[in-house]
Amino acid sequence: MNKTIAVIRGDGIGPEIVAQAIRVLDRIAQKYGHTFCYEEVDMGGNAIDKWGEPLPASMLEKCLASDSVLLGAVGGPKWDGQPAALRPEKGLLALRAGMGLYSNNRPARLWPQLDAASPLKPSIVARGIDFIVVRELIGGVYFGDHSTSETDGEKKATDIMAYSEHEIERIGRIGFETARKRRHKLTSVDKANVLDTSRLWRAVMHRLAQEYPDVEYSDMLVDNAAMQIVKDPSQFDVIVTENLFGDILSDEASMITGSIGMIPSSSLGEGSCGLYEPIHGSAPDIAGQDKANPIGTILSAAMMCRYSFDMPQEADAIEEAVNQALNQGLRTGDMMAEGCRLVTCTQMGDAIVSHL
Ligand code: NAD
Repeated sequence: MNKTIAVIRGDGIGPEIVAQAIRVLDRIAQKYGHTFCYEEVDMGGNAIDKWGEPLPASMLEKCLASDSVLLGAVGGPKWDGQPAALRPEKGLLALRAGMGLYSNNRPARLWPQLDAASPLKPSIVARGIDFIVVRELIGGVYFGDHSTSETDGEKKATDIMAYSEHEIERIGRIGFETARKRRHKLTSVDKANVLDTSRLWRAVMHRLAQEYPDVEYSDMLVDNAAMQIVKDPSQFDVIVTENLFGDILSDEASMITGSIGMIPSSSLGEGSCGLYEPIHGSAPDIAGQDKANPIGTILSAAMMCRYSFDMPQEADAIEEAVNQALNQGLRTGDMMAEGCRLVTCTQMGDAIVSHL
């Protein structure tokens, strides 16, 4: 296959970690007979310095014309004092909106070699943690009307939470399709005992479930889901939920897996073009020192292969190469443990490429 990948190296550690992910993709292309072409895109603080804005229209065009986008991270203290429109994060928001990305997908996977990094009890961790939270990204209460009024000296604030059927259906389909690419199990999280939006959510999900008889479907209330994620995370394969619940549950899910440097993510909209990035930021404290953990970005590249390029074998191969590097006892500083060998970002890349 021929694929064009828009590459946003970004700020801070972004260029270092993206460089390692590209080495891995190049090895995959060589091994499986694909051609990956990279289109360099400026976004974030570096784009502000170069072009005077965080995401110039021409850069968004490049992303829209690509088969998928790989991002390192943006931001840093250099741009903290800028007015809101000239902040690196604005570029990220504009990119998500411009690409129409309505689904954020964040795996919570605890690599057995890093068991000790999980804050959960060993007896829970031993059952395994490997699930994905599929979160609706551009609807619900974050995007409803917000207002504050004042009567008789007392203020009252209101935030509207709204969902229409088509918004629920499109994210629901991502949930079912993701389950089909994994262990065929989907848990839909809502608050249908209280909220109308959740009752509509549940009705749409039940309708969709008829179309996916091969996926084992269940509903769960959000308060119970928050408890189950720490009590028995092994029961989950794919969780699909609305924006606010997903924001909270996906952070809870990343915490239980230990290291922030290990976690990839994808954001998807219509079509197969997606945005793939690690969940961490630009880590200015270690930027330029070849110390960053590149695995979150490398696993983001694996997700790109699996979810945008329909290359499951290639995705499996990348994940297995990461597994082998961890088995060798190689660790970057963020996940260093006794008896392991401290390596640089580049050396971690070397090891993963060598296992491919
Ligand atoms: P951060 O995720 O950049 O760093 C938090 C801590 O984790 C730091 O100690 C850092 O060294 C460490 N860390 C993060 N990623 C690591 C990696 N791959 N390997 C080793 N250690 C790693 O969060 P922050 O410090 O709050 O934010 C720094 C900048 O990043 C800010 O400007 C923020 O706005 C931006 N940010 C960007 C994104 C994004 O681009 N998607 C996301 C979050 C934060």
